Amino acid sequence: MLFPLPSGLRHAVAASAAQVGEGQGEGPRQHDNMVVRSFPQNSLVSRVGRPTLDRVRLGIQILPCLLLAACFQGCSSDRKPPPALTAVPLEEEWEFADPDPLESPRSTPIQPAERPATPASGAARPSPGWVALDDYCRFHRVALEWDPQGSMPERIRLQGTAGITTLQRDSRMANAAGLRFWMAYGPRVVGDRPYLNKLDADKTLLPLVHAGPSGHDRRVILIDPGHGGSNRGTQNDTGSLLEKNLTLDWALRLEALLSDRGWKVFLSRTKDKTLSLSERVEEADRVGAALFVSLHFNAATPDTSRTGIETYCLTPAGLPSTLVRFAPEDTAKVYPNNRHDTANLLLAMSVHRLLIERTGAADRGVRRARFMTVLQGQQRPAILVEGGFLSSPEEAAEINRPAYRQILAQAVADGLEAFLQGSPAGGR
Ligand SMILES: [Zn+2]
Repeated sequence: MLFPLPSGLRHAVAASAAQVGEGQGEGPRQHDNMVVRSFPQNSLVSRVGRPTLDRVRLGIQILPCLLLAACFQGCSSDRKPPPALTAVPLEEEWEFADPDPLESPRSTPIQPAERPATPASGAARPSPGWVALDDYCRFHRVALEWDPQGSMPERIRLQGTAGITTLQRDSRMANAAGLRFWMAYGPRVVGDRPYLNKLDADKTLLPLVHAGPSGHDRRVILIDPGHGGSNRGTQNDTGSLLEKNLTLDWALRLEALLSDRGWKVFLSRTKDKTLSLSERVEEADRVGAALFVSLHFNAATPDTSRTGIETYCLTPAGLPSTLVRFAPEDTAKVYPNNRHDTANLLLAMSVHRLLIERTGAADRGVRRARFMTVLQGQQRPAILVEGGFLSSPEEAAEINRPAYRQILAQAVADGLEAFLQGSPAGGR
């Protein structure tokens, strides 16, 4: 591929080739500008039948907004400049799926609660709808702070047992205890209330807001050094640094660290050997691995400016991915690894947090993709880490330092321990 395939995509493509290969609660009807609440739990019974009512209300609320918006098309002279936080840097906007139903300007009437998560996919299951964030937070005992008239009207702040999570209006980029992650949909404000996609809230937000013990305690892991043999992976500008060699070195360092801590460690390869993606998954099954971590390095050639670390896990069924390979993706597809959706996300956050903290590398966030063969069939929590860009001369120089790769290995080892101990927020 000559065009700048981003991140994990590049690796998956190369490796694939080698392989052949709430409810509406009884909250106040008038919402204060400042919403800071720590709610008692609502009666579950009171919520029966509410989603339908919610949809109707949302539809009623949004249609006038759309009509108003249409009336003001072109009347830009008196528009306020966008608040700072709307300018989320999306330097790779082109690489993301954009299936957000609320962003379809030609789709009228817009019924967010009734539209499929991904309109392009005929097989998509019906959308579980959007929920008012204040009701959702009340139900789940999350303190919500949103001040549309304040100095940062685009920021939505939530505090649960795992710390503070920050969402940004109309942006999928979010932040959990200082670490970046990607929602499947951005929060939308309809009328005077922020809304979230319900499935996204359940599958992405809630596990992070209320992160607790992982429920996993078996220290048996399959470490997968990406690429190998005829599949060289990415490289630096001169070709002197090959991803396949660097990932193996990283994996061997990680193996030593984990073995010293009593882990039972297996590697998908211990030498420069060609290995298909499915063979890597099969090996994890064969050894009875409890966890799976695939190690990679990135490239964005010819862009030499892109740097940073990103960590992937499988996209939950029904949600769009952060990164797509074969667009439009089938969001209804359910893979074996989807039974570990929550653990996948917590594992990714734990490892990613330590990597960012220890290296000081740019935080490119925890992301989700569903095209990565090495994740799809896993019968265990599984992640894929992109440890930096070989296409950046500066980052490649760092990655080329054995001491830096030791930091990378130590960070993953500590992130794995943090996951088992149930502290993906790093104790914050
Ligand atoms: Zn790779």
